[in-house]
Amino acid sequence: MKTIPSFEINHLKLKKGVYVSRKDVVGGEVITTFDLRMKRPYKDAPMTTGSMHVLEHIIATYLRNDKMWSHRIIYFGPMGCRTGFYLLIRGDYAPMDIIPLLERAFDYASDFNGDIPGCTTIECGNCYDMDLPEAINDAADYYNLLIAPKKYNLEYPPITEEEKEKARKKYEKEKKQQLKILKEMRRELENSNEDSSKETEDVDS
Ligand SMILES: [Zn+2]
Repeated sequence: MKTIPSFEINHLKLKKGVYVSRKDVVGGEVITTFDLRMKRPYKDAPMTTGSMHVLEHIIATYLRNDKMWSHRIIYFGPMGCRTGFYLLIRGDYAPMDIIPLLERAFDYASDFNGDIPGCTTIECGNCYDMDLPEAINDAADYYNLLIAPKKYNLEYPPITEEEKEKARKKYEKEKKQQLKILKEMRRELENSNEDSSKETEDVDS
């Protein structure tokens, strides 16, 4: 099995790209979760909900109909921060494995015209929040990245020694605070035990 990248990523350094967010073993099989980062956090404006919603419908439909990959697609859905999407695939994969699939999907979305799939009040929970022109722009922008990705578009930014040290100090501080809370809880418990034993004595006398 390929190595799992650290879950602690520095979002301030994150570029647009295709990253492995995590790998989970479910029923003896690996599920790869990809981070499809379409906007740089805190540097680019996040996508609008209307754009993301359109892309969710179009890309999910495309992936589920792709001849090579449809049987491996578990889930495609938006990130709450509106800077990208998650794609869950059955199998142990690296970003380069799925780049051709994503190229096809985002090329399709960037050229899309016609009826957005599943865009009715029966099929969708908020079918009025759809912005196709904006979705086409976002898809075209991401497609340009997919056709010529750099290393930093495929690997999370490495954590520096300084960041590690900062994280370690934060952890030590939190550990101390937790110990303090535990001690206080124990003291309170002991006090209340003393009180109740006194009460029992009082009742006895
Ligand atoms: Zn919808």
